[in-house]
Amino acid sequence: MLIDNHNRKINYVRLAVTDRCNLRCTYCMPAEGINFVHKSKLLSLEELTTLCEILVAQGIDKIRLTGGEPFVRKDLMVLLRNLSKLEGLKDISITTNATLIGPYIDELKTLGIKNINVSLDAVDKDTFKAITRRDNFDVVYNNVMRLIEEGFNVRLNCIALEGQNTQEILPMIQLTKKYDIGVRFLEEMPFNGGSKAFKTILWDYKYILEHIKSEHLDYYKIESEKTSTSVNYKIPGYKGNFGVIPSFSRTFCGTCNRLRISATGDIITCLYGKPVMNLLEIMRGNAVKENVEEAIVNAIGNRAKTGFEAQEKYKGVFDNSMTSIGG
Ligand code: SAM
Ligand code: SF4
Repeated sequence: MLIDNHNRKINYVRLAVTDRCNLRCTYCMPAEGINFVHKSKLLSLEELTTLCEILVAQGIDKIRLTGGEPFVRKDLMVLLRNLSKLEGLKDISITTNATLIGPYIDELKTLGIKNINVSLDAVDKDTFKAITRRDNFDVVYNNVMRLIEEGFNVRLNCIALEGQNTQEILPMIQLTKKYDIGVRFLEEMPFNGGSKAFKTILWDYKYILEHIKSEHLDYYKIESEKTSTSVNYKIPGYKGNFGVIPSFSRTFCGTCNRLRISATGDIITCLYGKPVMNLLEIMRGNAVKENVEEAIVNAIGNRAKTGFEAQEKYKGVFDNSMTSIGG
């Protein structure tokens, strides 16, 4: 079992499998994209599989594949097949923009994958297009509907973006009336590849909740997992639920149970800090198992207590883009 230097059990890894993406969300990167790394600098399928085997043997029981867009990786399904055979790995989840997932939905179900988070920042087609800078709304929406029909545990992540999509918050909540899904509203963070700098936000979790209250006075708080980053609510009579993730305000650090590994093998022990170590060379060297284990234990033994502490130590962290970190 992995325990950090603040006595927090670490059992969850967010693994980015690529830094590439077929969308260009305004909050994530500039229109022209970022400097995507050369393919040889990305962990290979074999390296990702070996890394996950080692992590699971160390006590990680939940792995979320993210990116970039995980489905732009041609060998993603092979990785998922490999991971589905790992004993001890209780939960394989995916965070995706749902543009390319369609052909794989049946196999994902067969592999026992249940939790799919989809980034959807609008139910209005034009707003979606303006935010993602691509015209993919119909395919994304149809894929979300298929995932729901097939019984996946679907969570929609929607970032509240001042001047772009806040008129979409109430319509997004309406989806939870008919469907047993979760909609999570995130505060925007300045991880956008340096395309936009800001030090404060208007649409923080309190402001989002006030806005929701203007229409739904009767929503009530529901129980969430202790390690959840969201605070969750339900509207009486609605099938699904909604929640807010204070990603800018950072009120959730105390129970943080996660470790991030980027597509280039960077170990990131806090979203608001810089990578503390890189695994690529270790993965390509000798004594891989022993050296990776040691690197993970060292990284976990030196975690910042909170996101504010991590940010203080590593100024300039916000120059980065979420497509390299994995969200
Ligand atoms: N491409 C996939 C997707 O969009 O779901 C996975 C990668 S994406 C980088 C992972 C998560 O990061 C998404 O839920 C996205 O909304 C979130 N994200 C990206 N940039 C963000 C920002 N500036 N502030 C808050 N969340 C952000
Ligand atoms: Fe791509 Fe996801 Fe970033 Fe949007 S948030 S540009 S879908 S990686």
